[in-house]
Amino acid sequence: MLPVTDRSRYLDGIGFCQMYRYLKYHAGPQGLGLSPAVPAKAPTIGLAYHDALARCIKHLYAVHAEREQPTQWHGFLIENTSKFRALIWQALVLHNRCPSAPDWVVLDAEAQALVKAMAWGWLRTVAFQVLRDYELVKIEGEELLALGCTCAGASMANNTRRETGKSVHQADCQATILQSRPDLLLRNRKTKHLEIHDHKTESTIGDRDKYIRSYQDDVQFTLGASAVEARMGERVTHYVVQAVVKGQDKARYVKETKKFEGPSMIQSDLLYGSSTSAVGHPILAPVGKWYEKLPTWKPEVVERYGWEGKSGLQPMEWWVLEQLPQSVLNEMYLWVGPYEVPRWMAAEALRDIEAFEREWQGKLWDLWQTVGEAMDGPAPVEDAWMEITKLFPRAWQNCQSRFGAPCEFYGICHGQVLLVDAPRIYKPREPHHEYERQGFAEAAKAQA
Ligand code: SF4
Ligand SMILES: [Zn+2]
Repeated sequence: MLPVTDRSRYLDGIGFCQMYRYLKYHAGPQGLGLSPAVPAKAPTIGLAYHDALARCIKHLYAVHAEREQPTQWHGFLIENTSKFRALIWQALVLHNRCPSAPDWVVLDAEAQALVKAMAWGWLRTVAFQVLRDYELVKIEGEELLALGCTCAGASMANNTRRETGKSVHQADCQATILQSRPDLLLRNRKTKHLEIHDHKTESTIGDRDKYIRSYQDDVQFTLGASAVEARMGERVTHYVVQAVVKGQDKARYVKETKKFEGPSMIQSDLLYGSSTSAVGHPILAPVGKWYEKLPTWKPEVVERYGWEGKSGLQPMEWWVLEQLPQSVLNEMYLWVGPYEVPRWMAAEALRDIEAFEREWQGKLWDLWQTVGEAMDGPAPVEDAWMEITKLFPRAWQNCQSRFGAPCEFYGICHGQVLLVDAPRIYKPREPHHEYERQGFAEAAKAQA
């Protein structure tokens, strides 16, 4: 199998922390990297949301009714509630399963409700525009791009047999395979051009203009576009970010002490409403202070405000589809772009990655030559750790800031966990790209 990379490990290596990239993608007995035994909450929410949308979008295009008006759109969602509910639930269960525990324990009730609410909010607010304006070309398609191929006969950039995942490169080829998986590859119905759209979940975006600028000349989209273009022989002209601002997960304000010290809550109008009598009788509405908020996914709460179980909608669906004003959802669901794919950047970024990955392959080889045995066997690993820290510098300034929580390798870098004990605390990373997953499965079979 040829060496592989992807956008995340490349960016982690250049921008976040080299030690992080080593521990996450290369450490451990299998050399695949380490993952926390219990997955972190925020990425699990993101994965489940992405998967839920992928399932719903497939269904939407399969049954696409000719519904042009948002009022009809609402009717369509209501008619299909049970189907979408089942698809969202499948995604939630799949990503909420914690391999190291017998039950699925990663997300609490509030976080599970958030995944459902975000998916329903997208269906209500964004789905119509996607269906109206775009044909679906591919959803979560794996794209492979060979960088630096030295095979005599392999001149195509993308020369990996996609159906089988088997490489067509010669054994001594120097290529690195860049893996990417755009969420949506769409064809604009008007311009007929290809576009890549990705779903992002953000806790908060701060300054909106700054957020929009942050995706200008984005390397992730540029790389994804390059891989699609190599495979299809057609330009990808634009990319779009479909973001949802899901709210911050932080301590509740306690009125009595005037401090934020209550239990944590995800501060989102998708999940909480306040009781108000503004229209003459009590209703739930996205108003009021956060310490007054009531959870809208709980039947015992919403039945006091007009939800009826026999309506066929579950509390969360009733809240998101029928109670939240569209203007509130429009603030949360952002359609950012279209941005033009920066042509000048593609060639330079691919050249940078190729060089960077070669450097990493050299470092990993050096490490193996120096301390490979010590990494695997009972010999002291202190020497190995010394070598690792020499090769992969630590970015100490980032230890407390990985997606709003301390870095998952904090214990290793801060002397609380010995690397030799890591396999008991972490599990081997599961490759999330199909090519890599298949390659390692085949290598493991060959070794057995
Ligand atoms: S704990 Fe700090 S130094 Fe260690 S991998 Fe994480 S960010 Fe890097
Ligand atoms: Zn090759």
